[in-house]
Amino acid sequence: MTPMPPASWLDLSYDELSAELRALGQPAFRAGQVFSWLSRGRDFPEMTNLPLALRQSLAQARPTGGVRILTVRVSPKDGTRKYLLALCDGNIVEAVLMRYSYGCTLCLSTQVGCRMGCTFCASTLNGLVRNLSPGEMLGTVAAVNREQLELAGAGKKEERAITNLVLMGSGEPLDNYENVVKFLWLVNDARGLHISHRNISLSTCGLVEGIYSLAKSGLGVTLSISLHAPNDELRRTIMPIAKRYAISGLIDAARFYVKQTGRRVIFEYSLIRGVNDTEACAQELSKLLARLQCHVNLIPLNEVKERGMKGTAQKDAHRFRARLEELGLSATVRREMGADIEGACGQLRRSYLEQKGGECGDAAVCQSDPHGPGALA
Ligand code: SAH
Repeated sequence: MTPMPPASWLDLSYDELSAELRALGQPAFRAGQVFSWLSRGRDFPEMTNLPLALRQSLAQARPTGGVRILTVRVSPKDGTRKYLLALCDGNIVEAVLMRYSYGCTLCLSTQVGCRMGCTFCASTLNGLVRNLSPGEMLGTVAAVNREQLELAGAGKKEERAITNLVLMGSGEPLDNYENVVKFLWLVNDARGLHISHRNISLSTCGLVEGIYSLAKSGLGVTLSISLHAPNDELRRTIMPIAKRYAISGLIDAARFYVKQTGRRVIFEYSLIRGVNDTEACAQELSKLLARLQCHVNLIPLNEVKERGMKGTAQKDAHRFRARLEELGLSATVRREMGADIEGACGQLRRSYLEQKGGECGDAAVCQSDPHGPGALA
């Protein structure tokens, strides 16, 4: 694994930041100023209500830790925006912004790469490079939020553009537990972006101890569990993690999460043609999840060229959903967003790394960006 970069200003909680500024002899109100600027994706040169000498000494003391938008691809179909973001050590991660009627949801990465090895997922093809720090996750939200506010028009009162978060980009959030939990507190801080935990979903392939810890953490985020199969035998053929944790233990952990947080759990189920979309699977799934306060989110597999598996056709996905409902489960088929711009986990980063130096060069904005060069009016 690549080592993590040194702690940045963005990695610090409000209390940690206050302590550092106090140690430098600064008045109490400085922490609020700096925390607010950092959460809005600003670097020290832009913190104009701070004395210049202070800005210079803070910039020298540790890195800011911001994340830079490298490229943006925009789906002509639904306006979904896919970002490639550069971290300070040159590593690259992805994020996806989706617009819904209730606001904007950002899907962000928690690790560079992934070591969970799910057979249908592009993020894991080259294993785990490193964890993301809390500040890098916050920096991702801050950078996209800032871009969105700027696109909405200069002079508009600075509000929050991103209302919801899903930790469903590259990486396994519970494999980077401490950093993810710190990030979830940072992004919720009322002096910063103040995104409600109720509006945040964390998706896991099912690290059971992590689910128990999260249940006890007091965070109350929505938990999504990537189930993808109704029995251990089938699950082990597509998800190596199923060799470590049996489905029965995972369901117990899910039940504990519901009891502890009062929130229903979401089960993600990526539909792979002829593999997990049969009548027998629907029946087994409904028995498994009966009496659990939950919802099933069906995702027709987004095909990854290296993986050689086919997604279930839309009409068959809807038939599977109807069957689950008949059998007593609550289920929906996830609207495919951004499939035309390599929306699935790890796909865009992968093709970027393959054609580095190609048309989507550093700091360039892809032609498909309506706000970028070549934009249609
Ligand atoms: N590590 C976390 C987050 C992964 S991404 C987890 O496993 O939950 C979020 C969801 O997308 C997971 O359910 C994941 O299994 C699923 N996924 C990954 N690649 C996919 C693909 N090519 N098509 C459909 N779903 C995919």
